[in-house]
Amino acid sequence: MTTFDTIIIGAGWAGAVAARQLSRSGRKVLVLEARDRVGGRAHTWVHGSNAVDIGCSWIHGYKEGNPARSIAEELGINCHFPKPAEPGLYSSTGALPKETAVALGRALNSAVAAARTPHPAPEPTESLASSLFAKDSALFKSGVVGDDTAKDFARTLEVPLGLRLEKASARWAGWEAATNFTGSDAAPDGGYEALVQRLLDDAMANGAQVRINTKVTSIKEGDGGVDVTVAAGEKYTGKTAISTIPLGVLKRSLDMFSPALPDRYIEVVKGVHVGVLEKLLMRYAEAWWPKADTTGAYTFLPTGPAPTESSSALDVFEGSTLIVANFAAGTLPPGASPILLAYLSETPATALLKMPADEVGAAFHEFLQKRFEMQGPKPEEVQLTGWLNDEFSRGATTTPSVTSQGERSPLDFKELSRPVWDGKLGWAGEHTEMENRGSVAGAVISGMREASRVERLLKKGV
Ligand SMILES: Cc1cc2nc3c(=O)[nH]c(=O)nc-3n(C[C@H](O)[C@H](O)[C@H](O)COP(=O)(O)OP(=O)(O)OC[C@H]3O[C@@H](n4cnc5c(N)ncnc54)[C@H](O)[C@@H]3O)c2cc1C
Repeated sequence: MTTFDTIIIGAGWAGAVAARQLSRSGRKVLVLEARDRVGGRAHTWVHGSNAVDIGCSWIHGYKEGNPARSIAEELGINCHFPKPAEPGLYSSTGALPKETAVALGRALNSAVAAARTPHPAPEPTESLASSLFAKDSALFKSGVVGDDTAKDFARTLEVPLGLRLEKASARWAGWEAATNFTGSDAAPDGGYEALVQRLLDDAMANGAQVRINTKVTSIKEGDGGVDVTVAAGEKYTGKTAISTIPLGVLKRSLDMFSPALPDRYIEVVKGVHVGVLEKLLMRYAEAWWPKADTTGAYTFLPTGPAPTESSSALDVFEGSTLIVANFAAGTLPPGASPILLAYLSETPATALLKMPADEVGAAFHEFLQKRFEMQGPKPEEVQLTGWLNDEFSRGATTTPSVTSQGERSPLDFKELSRPVWDGKLGWAGEHTEMENRGSVAGAVISGMREASRVERLLKKGV
């Protein structure tokens, strides 16, 4: 039986980066991936010449040092900045002027900046909503809309947060902003998934083996290092192993490890929150909506009450704040295409995932016609992601610390990166990167970090 230097579990960004680095330094690497494709939460919908990412889509902080940029450059993949476009903001009274959208955006940015690393630190039970929605919040100083509309607008933050403002801890709300990659955003040509495939192609050219459709079911400390068993029954041994299994999946598979993981590690796995973000893609025969060639994204503020258990799909859309990217403006290559992509934050996503995708698509089409006050042809295709219920992701990404009785903090992400079994079993993935959790940058940095650590261990001779 072959013994590998390192067995990497998962072929998303973190696994691909680690596999490439270790195989380039001559290590014998095996990558085991449960899905029938590589990329993990990098997943691209392709139709003809259109490629739309329905997992991660942006290299955030492209000009500010995001390591995914250097990888794309090394692999010869072009990245593009979106062309400038107009905002499209709709309140319950209809389309608002551009100046209103700009003033509201500024007010929200000021409120967020004021809520960053507050001193004295609020209790862990205090939420971001409580500081953003405080009476004297800068959010309410735009002078262009009432307080309720400003609050609805602030819920656009729930898209990147992955959770409701009422659940995000005020204590740690802006903590990551000092170090994570923000500023300019760029998108890789052909989509993010192809970029991960290219990384793995490079690893394979250096001798790495990559097996898809191979779900790992057991990870054991053994005489030769780490024994990994897969669903079909085969067993592989690595002197070392790196798990990139997403945190949401790990929460449900803690019994896969033998000996059991340390209690402290288990406590953090259980305590860190995994957030919700889904995408709803609507492909039309033509772009029938207003200002389709100039608007970058439409933001819809609610016209109805917040969704409840008994809400219909249309009620859910009408009761939510929604961001809808407009691909008809041609802000990214390969040019204009009649596609709308809605970003669904926690509240609408959890409600809509209980319904069939075609019902959700039909309701969204009806919603769009109502909000745009126009009739449009039915969509030719509807795609609703299901990252939350997906057996191999169980959510979008980890979130900033949640409000809690106990003390959760960003240090949890550092704890999740601590190797076990004398360093032979390591952890990579966005959930293990304290400064950049929840992003491609975090996954990339974690893959590099673990590959380097394992390399040092192998040099010592495990
Ligand atoms: C909708 C959405 C939008 C996003 N947008 C952005 C964005 O614009 N920019 C950004 O920077 N980030 C974004 N992110 C976050 C980004 O996608 C992730 O942080 C990153 O892709 C995580 O990479 P990873 O390698 O840690 O995990 P993954 O990509 O999830 O890789 C883990 C792999 O492990 C596999 N696996 C799981 N269980 C097993 C098992 N038992 N056996 C074998 N394999 C297993 C999975 O199938 C998966 O392939 C977004 C995420 C989502 C969901």
